[in-house]
Amino acid sequence: MKRTNYCGVLNAAHLGTKQTVCGWVNSYRNHGGVLFIDVRDRSGLVQIVVGPESPFFELASSLRNEYVVEVSGEVKHRIEGAVNKNLPTGEIEIAVENLKLLNTSVPLPFDVEKSREASEETRMKYRYLDLRNPVMVRNLTLRHKIAQAARRYLDSQGFLEVETPMLTRSTPEGARDYLVPSRIHHGQFYALPQSPQMFKQTLMASGIDRYFQLARCFRDEDLRADRQPEHTQIDMEMSFVTIEDIHEIVEGLMTEIFKTAGQTLQTPFAKLPYNDAMNLYGSDKPDLRYDLQIKKVSDIFAHTGFKVFADVLAAQGAIYAVRGEKGAALSRGQIDKLTDLAKKNGAKGLVWLKVKDGKWESPTAKFFTEEEMKALQTAVAAQEGDIILVGSDACVRTCQSFMGALRKELVKNLTPQCEWAFVWITDFPLLEYIPEEDRWDAAHNPFTAPHEEDLDKLESDPGSVRSYQFDMVLNGNELASGSVRNARRDIQERILALMKHPKEEAARRFGMLLNALQYGAPPHGGIGIGLDRVTALLSGEESIREVIAFPKTTQAVCLLTDSPNVVDAQQLKDLGIEISKE
Ligand code: ASP
Repeated sequence: MKRTNYCGVLNAAHLGTKQTVCGWVNSYRNHGGVLFIDVRDRSGLVQIVVGPESPFFELASSLRNEYVVEVSGEVKHRIEGAVNKNLPTGEIEIAVENLKLLNTSVPLPFDVEKSREASEETRMKYRYLDLRNPVMVRNLTLRHKIAQAARRYLDSQGFLEVETPMLTRSTPEGARDYLVPSRIHHGQFYALPQSPQMFKQTLMASGIDRYFQLARCFRDEDLRADRQPEHTQIDMEMSFVTIEDIHEIVEGLMTEIFKTAGQTLQTPFAKLPYNDAMNLYGSDKPDLRYDLQIKKVSDIFAHTGFKVFADVLAAQGAIYAVRGEKGAALSRGQIDKLTDLAKKNGAKGLVWLKVKDGKWESPTAKFFTEEEMKALQTAVAAQEGDIILVGSDACVRTCQSFMGALRKELVKNLTPQCEWAFVWITDFPLLEYIPEEDRWDAAHNPFTAPHEEDLDKLESDPGSVRSYQFDMVLNGNELASGSVRNARRDIQERILALMKHPKEEAARRFGMLLNALQYGAPPHGGIGIGLDRVTALLSGEESIREVIAFPKTTQAVCLLTDSPNVVDAQQLKDLGIEISKE
């Protein structure tokens, strides 16, 4: 016997043929002395039938869930009434002529089909069984297809797949490094790459022109829902390109990737400068499936008698409002929840007005004039039955951010205008000021180039310098970051100096890149696209854990291998490492 087909592909077209399938017993039942067994493999299920007269009846009777079998027989039509229209193989069954038991199984900690209902801990501990679940097989298959589509497309565009080292020196992307101690060089460490950034830029200096890699990136960050210590990026870099060229290539790539899941994309994607994104949506990753905007309404309250607003405006702050459709029906408790959400995002409080029965309903209405409230209603286009939420803060960005958080909550009640809303967020500031350390830091990574027109402000007004950094956002998720880079060593050194990297330290940490730049590095730029997130969105999964074969838990632990864990005393000794007692 040799496998002729996968279980899940057999159908009426195979009637009358002899087939051999291999797989796991998914379920078994004895129906009036006849055994019906569902055999499962990666592709799906097929029913096999063993009658009481069969020489394999006894063996078949001994089968239990997840036993491994090899089965041969003729594909027959199921009897009337036994046809299962919901199953691709539901019209047929295999009448067993040969049956081999290849392996037994102890009882599983969960039903394979219900594995996704088990606790995270159980699923991760028995991930190899959880992966037998058809949904997990589907997710891994989609991930594979996306990776293949990316490779095919990038190859067709002249990209070379180049591997860069895992054992390397720190490449900053805003997280901590995972360190690997060297046994041969006591007291010295490699860092696992936060991204292949420096290597891919160096490859441009080498003249590779177009590079890509499905690159594993390691970032030791504080625990957050749906973060993984290691993630995969479709990492790309190209020479002699503008931002527009990078966007065009990536739009082509995303179109091909989405095709694998039967999805059609509209290109080019929308573009939104960072300042506009914050002003209109209160977020640098707005979900543009909804057109709801936050509105700056400071002007309306220029002469307000409401002290909170007046103080904010006197401090050069801002007042923003947003419409909550049908929100007049919200209870006090529900409004309190929105207020709490705003507070969690930096607000000190929240003003609200209901437009109800042609009147205003609000604890603060008495502080506002009729004209102010009318103007407010017009500004956010609120209708009878709506609520208007108004936030203010002395810091404009803070106000935008918590109004953005409210917007994100409010759109949950709206109908999306489209399925996939891609947007490029551009013109991020190059640097942000860290007051505690009295220095500037890269808003994303230190390799991004400033706008040429802003170059002369680099030292005099660093905060106003715009960069060629961009993000690709889909349905409110940041899917990718990229930029045009500093191809000139002198500009790169000026930026590192603002970040308070003295020359020697910069040379130590970024020496490879700085050196490579001075030997005629071409202008270049690139992007890193989160493969896990793209796959999760395309498979309709909330968490990237559902599309990674062996993820860590939210506590950054691999329960399958029980890592991280202690190591032998001898291993530590070899490395020259002592573990402190604290
Ligand atoms: N290295 C960047 C990141 O990991 C991506 C890029 O700019 O190419 O976010």
